[in-house]
Amino acid sequence: MSDASLLALNLVEARDGLVRKSFSARELTSAYNEAVNETSRLNAYITPTPEPALEMADAADRRLSKGAALPLDGIPIAVKDLYCTKGVLTTAASHILDGFHPPYEATVTDKLWRSGAVMLGKTNLDEFAMGSSSTTSYYGPVENPWRRRTGDNRPLVAGGSSGGSAAAIAARAALAATGTDTGGSIRQPASYCGIVGLKPTYGRCSRWGVVAFASSLDQPGPMARTVRDAAITLRAMAGHDPRDSTSAPVAVPDFEASLSGDIRRLRVGIPKEYRVDGMPTDIEALWERGVEWLRAAGAEPVDISLPMTKYALAAYYIIAPAEASSNLARYDGVRFGLRVEGDTLDEMYELTRAAGFGAEVRRRVLIGTYVLSAGYYDAYYLKAQQVRTLVASDFVTAFERVDCILAPTAPSSAFAIGENTDDPVAMYLNDVFTVPASLAGLPAISVPAGLSGDGLPLGLQIIGRAFDEETVLRIAEVLETAAQFRQLPAFVAGGAT
Ligand code: GLN
Repeated sequence: MSDASLLALNLVEARDGLVRKSFSARELTSAYNEAVNETSRLNAYITPTPEPALEMADAADRRLSKGAALPLDGIPIAVKDLYCTKGVLTTAASHILDGFHPPYEATVTDKLWRSGAVMLGKTNLDEFAMGSSSTTSYYGPVENPWRRRTGDNRPLVAGGSSGGSAAAIAARAALAATGTDTGGSIRQPASYCGIVGLKPTYGRCSRWGVVAFASSLDQPGPMARTVRDAAITLRAMAGHDPRDSTSAPVAVPDFEASLSGDIRRLRVGIPKEYRVDGMPTDIEALWERGVEWLRAAGAEPVDISLPMTKYALAAYYIIAPAEASSNLARYDGVRFGLRVEGDTLDEMYELTRAAGFGAEVRRRVLIGTYVLSAGYYDAYYLKAQQVRTLVASDFVTAFERVDCILAPTAPSSAFAIGENTDDPVAMYLNDVFTVPASLAGLPAISVPAGLSGDGLPLGLQIIGRAFDEETVLRIAEVLETAAQFRQLPAFVAGGAT
């Protein structure tokens, strides 16, 4: 098979082709290594790992030839550079982790390798996963493989923070990838790049070995071309881990088996508070179409109210920086990465942190330490925690009446690189539809559902009950089938446009 036709396969097709021996894992991985090279202009990868990839592919070929294939044997995937990978540079896209080669492997990536997956490399992101654009990386911005069809043809952001993973998948430079989602970092880049991104229930996937941003919100999850591919990848990533005290001791279902296509009589909540002022009409119209697709498949749309939605963003932007300020205290020039020498120990700390952290990270550390300080703790941090509880209880009430919630993933399509960067609040507003499910710890998926007026991908989001990824995936697959989103971005490896 030609490289272009290998790269056109989704994960299910590649898995089946490998088992049938239509091609080898080495051939598939070589095509992807080449694609990673060809798409380097997008800056989706910080560290490609072509040689280890080929070794992993050869090991997969040996198992495949014995008829003893593992679930993801020979599947080339990308890893967000927030996951610690043993012996492989791990940066969190920050200068402060310069030269950090972890002596251990994150639980989630370890599970993926044990399932036979092949590591193509480490993908770019916003520094410490703080952002919605993948432009705050010390390694430069990620470019979205999509361009507007009309008007302004500037390069666009891939969304963030898992923008490198999303761009790599969209450009056919990875078959699937890991992301992490704290307030939308899997779902929003998936929406901007026209791929599928699933934030599992908090506790579904272990956070052990994932560089911490806001520990009560961070959740690893899969990004992929299709809902089925995401379901398969999630199964390999999920499961209880005694090394993460917030990892849930619950069984991992066969998520793929839940994709029955049958959503008859399922009740789909349509939250009126997600109709925000100034939302583009194409997103509003797509949401309406989504409701109709699900109705046509036998589901029952139900109008619901999540009254605390309007406070979610404000609470998130207190809680996440508060936790970040505490988590990032460990970067002191002693234990990891960068050190800038000073005359005293304190001066060394200060110089290292000043040189090592970018502007957005410094902003979050400042906000976080402020809201946790003695005089302001009750007014800000404690209040935000109370609001978080109210946001979560809105969902509990809603899920008494409905089985899932349908909403847009983001209030816009991808914006140009450089836009929104002078105004942090404008950037934070991007997370308005993703943050509530994060605060409540609920599973939520973004499915590519259509194009904006100027030809950019738009995602729709399904939010589900805690640990009910099965229903979320089942509905998402029906949505995906109805939407028939088959367009390709302007920039694709293998040259097919
Ligand atoms: N955009 C959000 C933030 O900047 C979410 C990031 C994330 O989910 N990691 O905090």
